[in-house]
Amino acid sequence: MNTQALTDTAPGTAAVAPRGASLERGRHAFLEEIDAPIASFFSSCVRCGLCAHACLFYTETEDPRYTPIHKLEPLRRMWRQEYTFWGKLAKRVGLAKPVTDDELAAWSELVYDSCTLCGRCSRVCPVGNDIVYMVRRMREGMAAAGHAPAGLVRATRNAILNGSPMGVKLVTLEAQIRHVEKETGLTVPLDQVGAEYLAIFSSMEIVNYPEYIAALTRIFEQAGVTWTISSEAFEATNAGIQIGQSDLAAELLSRIVKAAEKLKVKTVISPECGHAYLALRWEGPNLLKRAYPFQVKHILELLDELRAAGKLRLRDSEDSRLTFHDPCQLVRQGGVVQEPRTLLKLVASDIVEMNETGVMNWCCGGGGGVSAIERAENLRLKAFRRKKTQLDELGVEMLVTACANCRVVLEEGVDAYNMELPMVGLTELLAEHLEERP
Ligand code: SF4
Ligand code: SF4
Repeated sequence: MNTQALTDTAPGTAAVAPRGASLERGRHAFLEEIDAPIASFFSSCVRCGLCAHACLFYTETEDPRYTPIHKLEPLRRMWRQEYTFWGKLAKRVGLAKPVTDDELAAWSELVYDSCTLCGRCSRVCPVGNDIVYMVRRMREGMAAAGHAPAGLVRATRNAILNGSPMGVKLVTLEAQIRHVEKETGLTVPLDQVGAEYLAIFSSMEIVNYPEYIAALTRIFEQAGVTWTISSEAFEATNAGIQIGQSDLAAELLSRIVKAAEKLKVKTVISPECGHAYLALRWEGPNLLKRAYPFQVKHILELLDELRAAGKLRLRDSEDSRLTFHDPCQLVRQGGVVQEPRTLLKLVASDIVEMNETGVMNWCCGGGGGVSAIERAENLRLKAFRRKKTQLDELGVEMLVTACANCRVVLEEGVDAYNMELPMVGLTELLAEHLEERP
């Protein structure tokens, strides 16, 4: 485990250099990250600028620096100078501008604060450039060069050393479990070997939304399925992916895999968190270089299966007009598009869609680790104007989502703009409408 790489040299500063981080290490990491897809993406970009109009940081500021492909400019120059004929020639005769440490420091805001890894730009690029892939490769070099933002370094260090980016420890989870057991009158299973499902959580759920744990407890009781929480690995989020340190991302994933194997579960349930699902379901086997001996499902996929099997029995319906905010990593990147809509229809009669929705949704503005970056707060609130416009057009009375991070960011945006809009997680909403136990 590379915990040494997380030791700050200057905590609290705008960018924190992990011990040993340097321009040279960064350059080395950049060169390692320039693979065939990166080379092909840079060489095929036709500079049409369409990606700018897909990115909420550009649309809400009209600052050309926030054009997605521009955020990758140092990486592009390095690719050109090291791997193309004309770039090598220019470098040899002293006509190429070298990438400097100051430049990378200045680019930290563009690579971290103004990219939520939402993937909307990749959808519109006419030549199919996967800009999220490129930003993530660039973050690997930025972290190695010591230009990851302080908040993300702290979150990653906490995740590696304490098991949670927010520093949530088992004792806190146990306190929330006791609270849920008192409230529901049900047992929350811990470390049950042989259970069918292993539930994991984002720290945000444990601390801010323990209603989610209560909702799971009640839904699983009604459905008659066996499930458990692991005392050794209950955190679902992956700060390693957000900061751009694949070795740490793999370490965090391996903890969940080990716990699932130890408890012999059949399925690991990713919680209402977009990037946790992406990390565990789609990235994990590649990062760990092996297949899992269990399945991974997002909680909404499981709930939809329980519905189809007649094991999710609901009553009544919400009267209020409501809409669903699509978490980017779950819907656009993760492919869970229809399940939330099917489930929502079971408990709501007046559902309206935003003008751009589903795989073309607009991000909350705080994904990809942006919500952990203190200096990004003003920019994040500017970006939130896109969501505010969408919500104002609908005149809804309630906002439903399925990602604890989206929910926190949306709540902050709603507060900042003095909007009156209650919010709820979809799993909790379903639990509120469960048929009473006989
Ligand atoms: S949309 Fe694609 S081709 Fe156009 S500028 Fe952006 S990355 Fe380049
Ligand atoms: S992934 Fe999203 S936030 Fe990042 S550059 Fe593309 S559109 Fe902008």
